[in-house]
Amino acid sequence: MVTDKILPPGSTIGILGGGQLGRMTAQAAARLGYRCIVFAPEEHSVAADVAAGHVRGAYDDTAALARFAAQVDVITYEFENVPEAAVAECLRHRPVRPGVKPIHVAQHRLREKEFFRSLGIGTADYQPIRSAADVAAATALPGILKTCTEGYDGKGQARVATRDELAAAWEKLGRRECILEALVDFQGEVSAIVARGLDGTARCFPIGLNHHSDGILRTTNVPSNLPTRTLATAERFGVELAQGLDLVGLVALEMFVTRDGRVLANEMAPRPHNSGHWTIDACATSQFEQLVRAICGLPLGSVDVLAASRMENLIGDEAADWQRYLEDPTARLHLYGKGTARPGRKMGHVTFVTPLWAAPTSTT
Ligand code: AMP
Repeated sequence: MVTDKILPPGSTIGILGGGQLGRMTAQAAARLGYRCIVFAPEEHSVAADVAAGHVRGAYDDTAALARFAAQVDVITYEFENVPEAAVAECLRHRPVRPGVKPIHVAQHRLREKEFFRSLGIGTADYQPIRSAADVAAATALPGILKTCTEGYDGKGQARVATRDELAAAWEKLGRRECILEALVDFQGEVSAIVARGLDGTARCFPIGLNHHSDGILRTTNVPSNLPTRTLATAERFGVELAQGLDLVGLVALEMFVTRDGRVLANEMAPRPHNSGHWTIDACATSQFEQLVRAICGLPLGSVDVLAASRMENLIGDEAADWQRYLEDPTARLHLYGKGTARPGRKMGHVTFVTPLWAAPTSTT
């Protein structure tokens, strides 16, 4: 049914943020005949490189945000640390999907964990650390101390085994508001990426098995080869989160699978997720296309898996190996067009897919 809520191809999508997730969203949108305009503070952004337009401005520049909003039909964001006030400002002019609530929850680790628990989604034991008294009374040890705000990819965290180590780590983090999470002895990490449409229909991509090192995602394997019951729980948690947030768009929920088979939520991101990049090459609908479909009011696409895949991030100078990947017939190379390969910077990814049928090599 066509309603006035549907934004047909030809409409313009505004993206807050200029990184690779915005870039891949713009690429998927273009495929379906949409235009994208990127709002980003930097002069050069890898998302704007592939978009129809770029509005440059600071996230607290209300005039620039209004100018941006006036040029688009719907607005989304590609990173969850976009200031809440910027999203609220955009919302005065245009629909913002997934909205304010998902970033309000995602931007604060304690709020996020409390929200998971309120929905019946399991988490590791955790405690707020806001004072020396909290440190002295801490029991979630050994654990990981994390700042409540502004931490990502393992930044703003410390592993602590004793209260003394906790006290020292909290000092080092500037006595900021923190959460102490009990260390989870996991057999694997998984993520559920769930799209929810304007009509409230939710669909979860098949669960991928993730491997991190130094707090950064390194690989995602699909299928994960975990037991069906574990996968069903992970999927249910993801869908309950999307419904609980009442979001229109995408949300990724990262979870631990403990050695005794429990599923515990770690964190969420209301946007496309690095662990969903495999969907571009090995799923009937990519996570980026699914986001476009959801926020434009289109039916959600099939999440059928087309091939077994393994996604590897290319971090720092690993992207210099691009020639090797081009020579590998099972490799699908994605480079983000970032200039300098700093250590820890995500420069691209490669997805290895298992071909069903390999074409004979040409001899000419
Ligand atoms: P985060 O910044 O919360 O995404 O954490 C980054 C990575 O650190 C996770 O993907 C895990 O590999 C590890 N990690 C975080 N929290 C815990 C925990 N409570 N127990 C064990 N490992 C953790």
